[in-house]
Amino acid sequence: MNHKAIIFLADGMADDPLDELGGRTPLEYAETPGMDTIAREGSSGTFLTLPEGLPTSSDVANMSVLGFRPEKNYPGRGPIEAVAQGIELGPDDVAWRCNLVYASNDGVLRDYSAGHISEADASALMAALQKELGGPEVTFYPGVSYRNLLVLHGKRFSPRVNYFKPDSSQDMPLDELRLSPADSSAEAADTVAFLRDLEERAASLLAAHPVNAGKASPANRIWPWSPGRRPRLPAFGVQYPGRTGAVISAVDVIRGIGRCSGMSVIDVPGATGFLDTNYKGKADAALAAIDKYDLVYLHLEAIDECSHMGDLKLKLRAIAEFDRFIVSPVLAALADRKDINFAILPDHPVPIRLRKHTTTPVPVAAMGPGFARDGVTAFSERLAPSGALGHLDGDALVRRLLEL
Ligand SMILES: [Zn+2]
Repeated sequence: MNHKAIIFLADGMADDPLDELGGRTPLEYAETPGMDTIAREGSSGTFLTLPEGLPTSSDVANMSVLGFRPEKNYPGRGPIEAVAQGIELGPDDVAWRCNLVYASNDGVLRDYSAGHISEADASALMAALQKELGGPEVTFYPGVSYRNLLVLHGKRFSPRVNYFKPDSSQDMPLDELRLSPADSSAEAADTVAFLRDLEERAASLLAAHPVNAGKASPANRIWPWSPGRRPRLPAFGVQYPGRTGAVISAVDVIRGIGRCSGMSVIDVPGATGFLDTNYKGKADAALAAIDKYDLVYLHLEAIDECSHMGDLKLKLRAIAEFDRFIVSPVLAALADRKDINFAILPDHPVPIRLRKHTTTPVPVAAMGPGFARDGVTAFSERLAPSGALGHLDGDALVRRLLEL
């Protein structure tokens, strides 16, 4: 029997026990009746989503959850997001994620998101960068808020460059965060020199731009990272023969993984990647999609953002809202369907104390026709390891969900 599946992906949800929550984790503390139902009525386990030797980033983690084996297939985040935006990369192009960030005058990176810069302000700045600094070798592309793209064109450029992830590098001096060549090629050295110069020219332009005037966290630097060439991911319908999948997400990284692998990317108006997202629109989109596709991947970014901000109250709210407005209503609407498996998991932890991703295996729970009760009573970091699923890796989760 071929079953369908919905994966609820709570970006950055896993955390550590916190004194101020009486020794509970945010997931244990927040009201999550929907997630707990999945654990109670089904099976729990753990999943190593950030394999050693790769960036500890959401693109790697979400590729892992979908079974696309980043240790073999990871192209870099720049190219994934470029594909998400419909940018055609040529054979000599190197695509970079290009954050707009705030660095203080004393040369310290203060905010990887430039105060979660608005869409309008970010696109004005990206347009100014393109107008003044773009050319035959450089194109700036606006994305969503601080998450923008930079493409370098030409054989002189290489993606073999070491970089720092901006959301993991806050409050560190820029001097310790410089790009450096990752191999001894002339191209890698040339790319680093070119980008360092571009960063400084961009900083001069941004400092003087009226959009930044009077801001507490002005977008006064660009931050190129996670470069790569044209991506090639396994096709979903080949990896899971004959089956179809769709992703629902506000952020380009997830949409890009979907597009690169031939999954459908479903647009939801008002999906923002933050707490003001259109929860109901995403739940409705999942309910419509499950009739058409075998796997629906419903991703929520807001929890990750609140964790990087180090704001516990907001993180608790984002977890509770994900459950109240998405997980619980979707489970309720599909309560009579006997052909659908449901899974809940984060892509990686973002402990609120550290404000960055860690590689600890995440908790996962799944219920439906393919999963028996295992005695685990709630969805949490603490209880999941004792569940019947054991430790998952590779494409085991999606295979079990689709019963391949
Ligand atoms: Zn993530």
